[in-house]
Parts: sequence; C-alpha cells; structure tokens
Amino acid sequence: MKLPENTPEHLDGYVKIDRYNAESIDRIASHYKDVIEAIGENPERQGLQKTPERVAKALQFLTHGYDLNPEEILSGAMFEEEYSQMVVVKDIEVYSMCEHHMLPFFGKAHIAYIPNGHIVGLSKIPRVVDAFARRLQVQERMTNEIRDCIQQTLNPLGVAVVIECKHLCMAMRGIQKQNSVTTTSAFTGEFAKEKTRSEFLRLITASLD
Ligand SMILES: [Zn+2]
Repeated sequence: MKLPENTPEHLDGYVKIDRYNAESIDRIASHYKDVIEAIGENPERQGLQKTPERVAKALQFLTHGYDLNPEEILSGAMFEEEYSQMVVVKDIEVYSMCEHHMLPFFGKAHIAYIPNGHIVGLSKIPRVVDAFARRLQVQERMTNEIRDCIQQTLNPLGVAVVIECKHLCMAMRGIQKQNSVTTTSAFTGEFAKEKTRSEFLRLITASLD
C-alpha cells in the first residue's frame, strides 16, 4: 500500500488515514468474498454484499502503521531543554492486531523517559505507539520496538515502556480466559536502577483523584 507523498501530514512524519488505496481495497475485498463463501455464508445476501469492501477498508485502517515512520514522528518534534526529570505519559490507548490470529488486542501503554538535553512534543509519544500498534504485532515485540525507537531517536538517559492488553484471541477462542490481561515491559538506561523503575511504577499507578 502506498499513499500520496508530500502531503503536509507526510512532512510531519504522520499520516492520518481517511483515504484508501483503491487497488489494495479491491484485492483484499475479493479475497474476503472467498472467505465468506468458505465459511458457508452467501456473500450475495443483502447484509453481506458490501462486507468485503468494508472489511478491506477496516483492515487498511487497522494496519496503517506500515505507512508511518515513528522515528520521523519523534525527530520532527524534538526541542532542546535542560529539564532532566522523568517525563511520564500514561494511559495511552493501544489498538493492535495479533499476528497469529489477526484478532485485536487492546489496552493501555505507559511510557517514560528521562531527557538528556532534548524533550519531545508530548502528543508524539501516543503517535509512536500508534505507528507500531497499527500493524500485525505481538505485544512483546511492540513493547521493545517502542522502547528502541524512543531510545535511538531522542537519546534520553533512559526509557520505560509498560503495556497492558487484553487479547481477543485469548478471550474469544481457545482457553477463553475472558478477563486476563497481558503485561509487558521494557527498560533502558536509568530505568535499570530499582529506584528509578519504582518511581515510574508508582507514577503510573497513582491516580489524579
Ligand atoms: Zn493471537
């Protein structure tokens, strides 16, 4: 899938997808028509006639992270700043799809970094999460990818990433553990220290109320 280049969104390293690649929509839709038949349904009945196209558009949106460059998202919004305390962005919504079953997993990400001369626009952190989440993923790899992207681009004194998600492939099929939550974490630098990591964990569990 390739989207038009040189749009303002592209220059910002970020593409908001509300347009679709017609060629790949057609291709995905024709396969989904087969899938509908293969599971024993009639793709011509009224309620299903437009389903292949709708599924194709949904899928294209759900995987639009492939068109985003998370390093650019960060490097386009870095500022020199002497602030050297921990910066925490918590409760970032995550919507992704497991690469084993292509079923959703979703939940929250909590991210911190300790600046080393540079800070980044706060809205960019959730965008980086989205750039990695909107792909076929496993939660463990996504956690490391987010950590590595922030570490390599911003070069902070440390990065911490904690992600908590429910996986529909666990809830809806197989073992049917409806309410289990999978937690993954990844740290660099200062967060290797017990004291720094506890401070981060205290901040992400603290409530504002
Ligand atoms: Zn799965």
